[in-house]
Amino acid sequence: MEYRPLGKTGVQVSSIGFGASPLGNEFRPVTASEGERAVDAAIDRGINFFDVAPYYGRTLAEERLGNALAGKRASVLLATKCGRYDREDFDFSADRTYASIEASLLRLRTDYIDFYQVHDVEFGSVRQIVDETIPALQELQRQGKVRFIGITGYSLGVLRQIASQARVDTILSYCRYNLLSDELDRSLRPFAESAGIGLINASPLHMGVLTVQGPPAWHPAAPEVLAAGKRAVDLLVQQRVDPSVFALRYCLDYPNAATNVVGMSSAENVAANCLALETPIDPGLLAAVHEAVAGGYNKPWPSGIPENAAFG
Ligand code: NAD
Repeated sequence: MEYRPLGKTGVQVSSIGFGASPLGNEFRPVTASEGERAVDAAIDRGINFFDVAPYYGRTLAEERLGNALAGKRASVLLATKCGRYDREDFDFSADRTYASIEASLLRLRTDYIDFYQVHDVEFGSVRQIVDETIPALQELQRQGKVRFIGITGYSLGVLRQIASQARVDTILSYCRYNLLSDELDRSLRPFAESAGIGLINASPLHMGVLTVQGPPAWHPAAPEVLAAGKRAVDLLVQQRVDPSVFALRYCLDYPNAATNVVGMSSAENVAANCLALETPIDPGLLAAVHEAVAGGYNKPWPSGIPENAAFG
């Protein structure tokens, strides 16, 4: 495994991170034992960064990850979230945050969270997150329940806006740096770099688009993005290259994100994804893939409440 420094936290994270949303059956039904084997395989391979949220499977992913990590907590860095509890249930108040962390700690069977993150910030008021949510996280830090503070979301403008007004250690964004997008690098990386904030690149497979089985029905991308992803997958399969391994390796070659958090629900996923570390990309094939995705490249979907639209 390869490890990289995460901003100024002093922590080294594995360049492949374990995304636990599939443990909450977000992509397909997964059994508890299948999920446990995936977590074990990840730890065996040296993956030390695990990302989850109460929202994934409406607490199921946290519960399963907590069970799978029993006795192994000390060997991993655990990232979870507050603020999003269901598709349309957001609550960024300090009171809900204090209640939520206690429930997360119980489900995760631990007494501290390494990275506590405000989830999908573009669905909240920037003012409330800066003046109330992040100060609540700082209070939890003083109490020793949280080591580092982060924010997550799809809207790069809102993430930048919040991080320029409140101190955060990490920013996680998703579907913004992979074979279908380089917006993270253009819109957020320069700011994060100058502020010493660690960048976490989530969804390197564009939430399933860059896999043979394809995206889930709820995927928010426009049809031309899904079609572009499918063209890339078909091209890679034709060349006898595993599209997910190729897509992940493309992200691993980007040095400015400390970790690439990929959703994994089986030991086979873990093994395939770790293969990416030793499977360099053929530049000729990459040029062909870039050409194949051209019609769906950097085409974001709208996300968040109307008052945040102005932040981009
Ligand atoms: P992803 O791009 O990582 O794709 C996950 C899908 O690909 C799942 O169906 C998984 O089973 C499949 N997959 C993984 N490895 C594979 C392989 N080798 N071959 C074939 N299929 C494979 O998308 P994601 O899971 O949505 O994102 C990764 C993680 O990032 C999440 O689990 C979550 O932890 C984090 N995330 C956070 C936010 C947020 O905070 N707002 C948003 C999105 C994702």
